[in-house]
Amino acid sequence: MHKQCHCGKPMGLELRNVIYADKVEILHVPVFSCPSCFSSEVLQHVTKDIKELLQNLGSKPTARRISFARNNELAEIIRKLVLEEADNPNVDWQSSLEERMEFRINLLLDLYRYARSLGDEDWMNDVQKRLVQLSGFTSESVFMNTKN
Ligand SMILES: [Zn+2]
Repeated sequence: MHKQCHCGKPMGLELRNVIYADKVEILHVPVFSCPSCFSSEVLQHVTKDIKELLQNLGSKPTARRISFARNNELAEIIRKLVLEEADNPNVDWQSSLEERMEFRINLLLDLYRYARSLGDEDWMNDVQKRLVQLSGFTSESVFMNTKN
């Protein structure tokens, strides 16, 4: 079920810290890595948001730590999934991810309706941005690291 490495071994999904411009530490970046040959690749579904985050930091950022999971719904769901299920040998990663995505989308839709009832456009835009981060792909595509 997990993505296969070019060396033939299954790759595991994990969260890594990425250092940017020697100063900014970005936490909770979802990455596939191979325990056999140590190849790694960032989850394709979040690369666009990571680029955007780096662009916003600019070329001379001040030193700080940022949680990518706080800026990206999918990364946050994966962060919790890894945290809560890492010790569970029977976990079905794909259906567990699917359940969590569905639950989160329903919650965001409720929030959107509430924000709309208040006429709060900033909030509506924020919720909409978060919904986009969880739509347009399947949970299977996450574990295959193919976006669509
Ligand atoms: Zn490998």
